[in-house]
Amino acid sequence: MYKVGITGGIGSGKTTICKVFEVLGIPVFYADTVAKEIMVTDQLLIAGIKSAFGEESYTAEGKLNNKHLAAIVFSHETELARLNALVHPAVFRAFDDWEKQIDERVPYTMKEAALLFESGSYKMCDTSVLVTAPLSLKLARVMQRDQVSAEQVKARMDKQFTDEQKAKLSGHFMVNDEEHSIIEQVLALHKQFLKKAADASSLA
Ligand code: ATP
Repeated sequence: MYKVGITGGIGSGKTTICKVFEVLGIPVFYADTVAKEIMVTDQLLIAGIKSAFGEESYTAEGKLNNKHLAAIVFSHETELARLNALVHPAVFRAFDDWEKQIDERVPYTMKEAALLFESGSYKMCDTSVLVTAPLSLKLARVMQRDQVSAEQVKARMDKQFTDEQKAKLSGHFMVNDEEHSIIEQVLALHKQFLKKAADASSLA
């Protein structure tokens, strides 16, 4: 099935835009949400995390010990890379399983991931969309949504590729600046993806 990756910096509005694709009947895999879920359900991943970061990475009830893990991975970049090296392949497996249960009549699927490029996940997609928004808007949105400071949002932004780096790897672009219409941009892309998906399936 034709697969479209969609990404954008924190607060760019990629999740909001995916909801519009869902209204058009396109199933969306939310990689960041799934990553959080499988950290407490995927036994292989849980074993890997315990072996890398200690049994205390989980509580006796099987919940993630966020305080313990955050203290390790947010103070050492190599440790964060180590955690990602465990989580990303597990998310890839979850995506494969998710795709298998999608109705064959669906024209294409989407994978929404904050780290689509950083994780290498875009390589599993046929094309990708980069959502951009002005920095001031991204900051204001996330500060309001998560009740955090501008510094905290910027610290998260620093862990992601810049839009310039992402643009080099993107096939399509959307601007979510609250001036250009999201609906019109989604409809234009949807039309292109329907055509590409139909072309791809006629070649298969
Ligand atoms: P993250 O990477 O942090 O998950 P995201 O790119 O998925 O962020 P969203 O969660 O979709 O971003 O949007 C961030 C916030 O901005 C949300 O509260 C959302 O409702 C709001 N928002 C996004 N786009 C718009 C828009 N065009 N108009 C008004 N509010 C918007």
